[in-house]
Amino acid sequence: MAESTLPKEMKAQVLEAFNQPYALKSLPLPQLASDHDLLIKVDAASYCHTDFVLASGQMRPSPPTFPHIGCHEFAGTIVSLSASPSSSAKQYRAGQKVGAPGRAYHPCGTCFECVDTSRPESDYAGYSVYCSNASNNGINRNGGFSEYAVVDARQVALLPETITPVDAAPLMCAGITIFGALKRCKLSRGQRVGIVGAGGGLGHLGLQFATAMGLQTIGVDAADGPIHLAKSLGTAAEIVDARSQEAETIVRRLGKEDGESNSANMGLDAVIILPEGQSGFDFGMKLLKHHGLCVVVSFPEAGFHVSARDLVFRDITITGSLVGGNNTLREMLDFAAKHNVRAVSKTFALDNLNGLVEEYHKAAGGKLVVDMSL
Ligand SMILES: [Zn+2]
Ligand SMILES: [Zn+2]
Repeated sequence: MAESTLPKEMKAQVLEAFNQPYALKSLPLPQLASDHDLLIKVDAASYCHTDFVLASGQMRPSPPTFPHIGCHEFAGTIVSLSASPSSSAKQYRAGQKVGAPGRAYHPCGTCFECVDTSRPESDYAGYSVYCSNASNNGINRNGGFSEYAVVDARQVALLPETITPVDAAPLMCAGITIFGALKRCKLSRGQRVGIVGAGGGLGHLGLQFATAMGLQTIGVDAADGPIHLAKSLGTAAEIVDARSQEAETIVRRLGKEDGESNSANMGLDAVIILPEGQSGFDFGMKLLKHHGLCVVVSFPEAGFHVSARDLVFRDITITGSLVGGNNTLREMLDFAAKHNVRAVSKTFALDNLNGLVEEYHKAAGGKLVVDMSL
């Protein structure tokens, strides 16, 4: 689409205050703000738990300013980009489809995060998703619940041909986050991982990624809808209902399968914690064998209670995982294309974003996605 044919205005779902429904508005088309920018026509925009956290006023330390357009996992078609030869947008051309995550729009390029390339999550000198001076799409700047959005060319990933925008959008936060958490586990094929919250948005993608990585996977959930969804995926993962099954029984059974007589060496090598409740955290910790790794992804307001005995006597390591760098984002998309990893999603028109939010609160599992073609 030539720039001259772009409309002057666009429809967007806007948050005007905390704890209020989204309001559909006509707004001026956003403009390219630097040579790094791409203007995309949004094709799909996925709803994340963080959108709920933000809309209910619990987002710290960087709350949005109103009016605000949410969504930090979306995908679209490039319609306009800088023609400057020094532009980081020059690797792209109009008409290409890209996925856009929240982090990191216009990082400073000079802080220790941006300069350090030594950590596994580092992208390249001058760009870091951890830069605290960067803005984040759909969090402290506008995101994807609108017909058009400006994104940073350095933060996006080209969509593989077999991945549609509706498939790609949920991968831009949920997908990269769970893929990054699985990479943090540093497990080899055949080792065991537990995913607590396996039927949720991240969890059901995690079951697909983990089994495709060759990991023996146990998915844990504690509600009918998510358990049904986790089972319906048809992965090789074992699905555990934490309401009726005990972690200790599972651990003993795994020990028996291994012919292991020492209880300290029975259980999982790593677990990933996705729910916010203490009971899910406790269940995951109990599944771990000695020296196991607990990767925390959720961040409940009140935190988690950790047993110091698990740390001292069982040498459990606890770490956290936040999305992933953009190299990991591209690796994840290629992996998803190769192994046919897809979110189970339900689609809604942009006009019906509030209907999507209502559906979200039913907690049936999977992902809810705005499809702009509806
Ligand atoms: Zn998210
Ligand atoms: Zn920086």
